[in-house]
Amino acid sequence: MKKKILFLLLIISVPIMANTVPLNKLIGQFNEKTDKEFVALDTTVLPVNKSGMYLQKEPTEQLIKAYQAFKQQHPNIPFIIVSATRNYAYQNSIWQRKWNTLFPKFNNAQRTAQDILQYSSMPGSSRHHWGTDIDITSVSSDYFHHNQQGKILYQWLEENMPKYGFCRPFNEGRSGGYLPEEWHWSYQPIAKAYLMAYKTALQQDTQSVLSQLNFDGHDKITLKALLEEYVLNVNTECIN
Ligand SMILES: [Zn+2]
Repeated sequence: MKKKILFLLLIISVPIMANTVPLNKLIGQFNEKTDKEFVALDTTVLPVNKSGMYLQKEPTEQLIKAYQAFKQQHPNIPFIIVSATRNYAYQNSIWQRKWNTLFPKFNNAQRTAQDILQYSSMPGSSRHHWGTDIDITSVSSDYFHHNQQGKILYQWLEENMPKYGFCRPFNEGRSGGYLPEEWHWSYQPIAKAYLMAYKTALQQDTQSVLSQLNFDGHDKITLKALLEEYVLNVNTECIN
């Protein structure tokens, strides 16, 4: 009898164990400021453009190594963290502001969402929820392609960030998803597991995911299709 119960418990626990990241962490519904896995960047050597930014411990340690290596070669070129973890509530405030401005203009929910998605994520779908992703120095492609310091930074990041475990999810040449972002870097060893868990949750537990995403317009757009396009359409180097 006991063996039977043990066997049943094993069967039941397999799908739970396979998905190792809890849903609330995948969709940013937690407070990074009180989470023990997260570090306040302004307590580290990393330059930040505002206080109150957090990142998971391991990506923080690797980012510090990358920053120090860069500064040895280019002491006068800015390497500043301009965005790190953004939780659901934060992303929702960005989304709401844009929705309120753009929906009256388009008078069409899908078009409004697609317009916002050029530059901002739907709440619950940003890689910035994960504590593995950062934006460096500028969020303008122009800076990385036409500014002299930006060009040097961009070349260095492309050549060296992979040595520290980082990939650039929004690279050129993808068919769909976000526009290229030269500034956005992701700590691949952890973010890869988050992406896989997100994909699994979206496919196997669709309603649990969708029911948590209550942002403006969520019920008037092709939510699941947009999540798949924008979350899953990333640089293959971030997946492998
Ligand atoms: Zn970013």
